[in-house]
Amino acid sequence: MITDPSGLHALLANIRRFVLETCIPLEAGIDQSDTIPEAVVQEMRALGLFGHSIPQAYGGAGLTAEELTLVNIEVSQAATVFRARFGGNTGIASESLVTDGTEAQKARYLPRLASGEMTGCFALTETESGSDATSLRTEAVRDGDHYVLNGSKCFITNAPLADLFTVFARTDPDKPGAHGISAFLIERDTPGLSTGPAERKMGQHGSPVGDVYLKDCRVPASAIVGEMPGQGFKTAMKALNKQRINLAGLCIGPAIRLVDEMVRYAGTREQFGHPIADYQLVQQMIADSNTEVHAARALVLETARKRDNGGDVTMEASMCKMFASEMAGRVADRAVQVFGGSGYMARTVAERFFRDVRVFRLYEGTTQIHQLNIARRTMAARAGALDIAESGQ
Ligand SMILES: Cc1cc2nc3c(=O)[nH]c(=O)nc-3n(C[C@H](O)[C@H](O)[C@H](O)COP(=O)(O)OP(=O)(O)OC[C@H]3O[C@@H](n4cnc5c(N)ncnc54)[C@H](O)[C@@H]3O)c2cc1C
Repeated sequence: MITDPSGLHALLANIRRFVLETCIPLEAGIDQSDTIPEAVVQEMRALGLFGHSIPQAYGGAGLTAEELTLVNIEVSQAATVFRARFGGNTGIASESLVTDGTEAQKARYLPRLASGEMTGCFALTETESGSDATSLRTEAVRDGDHYVLNGSKCFITNAPLADLFTVFARTDPDKPGAHGISAFLIERDTPGLSTGPAERKMGQHGSPVGDVYLKDCRVPASAIVGEMPGQGFKTAMKALNKQRINLAGLCIGPAIRLVDEMVRYAGTREQFGHPIADYQLVQQMIADSNTEVHAARALVLETARKRDNGGDVTMEASMCKMFASEMAGRVADRAVQVFGGSGYMARTVAERFFRDVRVFRLYEGTTQIHQLNIARRTMAARAGALDIAESGQ
């Protein structure tokens, strides 16, 4: 749903300018330095990028799912690490609060997340609990008006620099699955919470990912999202459900950019006396890539519109995430092929994006977990029995 076409047009034009003039010239340097310059983060704040999905009442732009998809497609045509810097705030790290927070929690945190004063993170994964997220072991034990948390989280985007942590912990040890889990809002300076250094990783350099440690971390019971113990996994699934549409949009931007880069390279690189763009086997890689971009874009926008109209898109969101992330991988692989040996060299966009998009098939539900969700829902719908408790993240 597009609520304000001219406002959206202006917003997308601003983002396009930011991508072209600020982000793309810095991409290669950030891949080397592993850090986004603070001046760029400041520009993101000034552009309102941290608050796109947060309701206007709390200082955000209150974009619909369709509007947010278009923004995500635009912003991710530069290295996706830029979006990763503010993406938590306008996605997974604010969505739990937006959907299930109390009025007091929203008033305390959402304006600061929307402005980018605070950076949020979403801490669900543990060493022994990845796809099987309901098996998490971090525990929160009630002590009067407080809970005491012990455990650790791994692979948490922005943990090394975050100010606000949404931590998922088991509050009821007698309920081993989803039902005993609660979501806690914990501020950085809370005694007992600490973070590890940023891990070295394959791609998305400049987006710090690391551990979160909780050692006798004491928080008031009012820190539970919605002040409702036992609802944490439902909250996580609501946030992830929306985030899957966001993430699918973030897979399309790099693929669009890579099609542009393939066309540019194929038009200038000559072999056997002709630009390689003249060869039909090269054209096939460009044609297949652009077709897949269009297919993903159509699927994601249709799903976003259905969500905006109040439809249940649980299965479609999985389809979007699975199809768009696999599509981005195929397009990136073809881009390396079109670039030839240069595509394997770290100085080219094909090499960098090939590494950057690999993670899209892994986080926020691996391809296999989405395949399971889609198959289960498809079969249940055909059998007329759609009562599904999702357990995978
Ligand atoms: C860069 C990065 C950033 C991340 N950021 C965050 C974050 O901010 N917050 C957060 O909470 N987490 C984050 N994660 C964690 C991410 O969500 C998990 O890595 C992901 O859910 C997969 O879990 P796992 O790594 O434990 O893999 P596993 O669950 O161990 O899976 C390993 C393999 O087994 C397959 N598999 C597992 N179960 C099944 C099954 N039932 N059927 C078929 N195949 C199966 C998987 O598909 C995969 O191929 C991040 C990860 C990365 C790499």
